Amino acid sequence: MSGDKTFDFTVTRSAHPVADAKREAILANPGFGKAFTDHMVMIDWNIDKGWYNPRVVPYGPLSLDPATSVLHYAQEIFEGMKAYRSTDNVVRLFRPEANAARFNQSAARMAMAQLPEDLFVEAVNQLVRIDRGWIPTGEGQSLYLRPFMFANGVYLGVKPSSDYLFMVIASPVGSYFSGKAVNVWVSENYTRAAPGGTGAAKCGGNYAAGLLAQAEASEHECDQVLFLDAVERKWVEEMGGMNIFFVRDDKTIVTPPLGTILPGITRNAVMTMAREQGYTVVEEPLAIDQIYADAASGRITEAFACGTAAVITPIGAFRHAAGTCRIGLDGSNGPVTGALRDGLVNVQRGTAPDTHGWVHTID
Ligand SMILES: *Cc1c(COP(=O)(O)O)cnc(C)c1O
Repeated sequence: MSGDKTFDFTVTRSAHPVADAKREAILANPGFGKAFTDHMVMIDWNIDKGWYNPRVVPYGPLSLDPATSVLHYAQEIFEGMKAYRSTDNVVRLFRPEANAARFNQSAARMAMAQLPEDLFVEAVNQLVRIDRGWIPTGEGQSLYLRPFMFANGVYLGVKPSSDYLFMVIASPVGSYFSGKAVNVWVSENYTRAAPGGTGAAKCGGNYAAGLLAQAEASEHECDQVLFLDAVERKWVEEMGGMNIFFVRDDKTIVTPPLGTILPGITRNAVMTMAREQGYTVVEEPLAIDQIYADAASGRITEAFACGTAAVITPIGAFRHAAGTCRIGLDGSNGPVTGALRDGLVNVQRGTAPDTHGWVHTID
């Protein structure tokens, strides 16, 4: 079915959707990734058949053979995106074709099947349409969409799977962080990605390998981890699930270059918007010791994390074994971070014009 624009999804409506009153109670205070909508999308792939049986089905558990490949060798990738519903009831997605393209880049790195990009986007649309009543409209709220794919061939041989299952599930969410600046733990014991590794792929394994560093961050009362490069343990890479930017006092915004980091769609949008707001945007290797020195001297005035879940979140301080490095206006939203965040959120939610063709509306 690749290249075919009209995909025939079979739709089986849930016989037991969550009651309206219960859904409204969930939407009033959704948290992050705790509640799921009434439906999900599934599409199968087999080495002989290609993609087949695209379907929308009631949300529910999967039954897997214990020898299912993903449970042993972790051939799994995912995406994260959000649907926004405005008060006038228009539903918007932000750059879904960019998620579709990145999904295939991740698939290629993990030796998995390629999913036609229009099929990826249509799968997301199908779920958003049937469960649009689950999109909260409050401040900072959205429907988080989680497309993912895993090896569901049944065997213990080490080789790419003969079968994959692609799915999309959805979860109403509020803000990932409370809105205050976050404290970041600089991981000196663990690294996330090495040259030639899987750092640029959105695979579950990268997250599994980062959990211990995240636990170390929590022990030091930090919300997030900052990883350094695996070779010299010197260069700033990214956070566990977010990219990082620094604002300098000469109207320059800097971020580490691509390679071993995840090519964030938010990162890309921030760079575009910052240039339009008159900033010089630089992608260059950033030594952590230079960051500490520049923060102390005032050359760095702000730092922020960005990603679909976190949107744009200011960083108040970096903590590491030898001490704490405070950034600019500690604990408050710096003006540059705030303007970039507002600019991005307004486009995503349709309250500012979409001059880049980034927004897809769903009817
Ligand atoms: C998903 C992700 C990001 C952010 O990507 P967006 O496309 O902006 O959501 C950054 N880093 C990692 C490790 C990620 O998994």
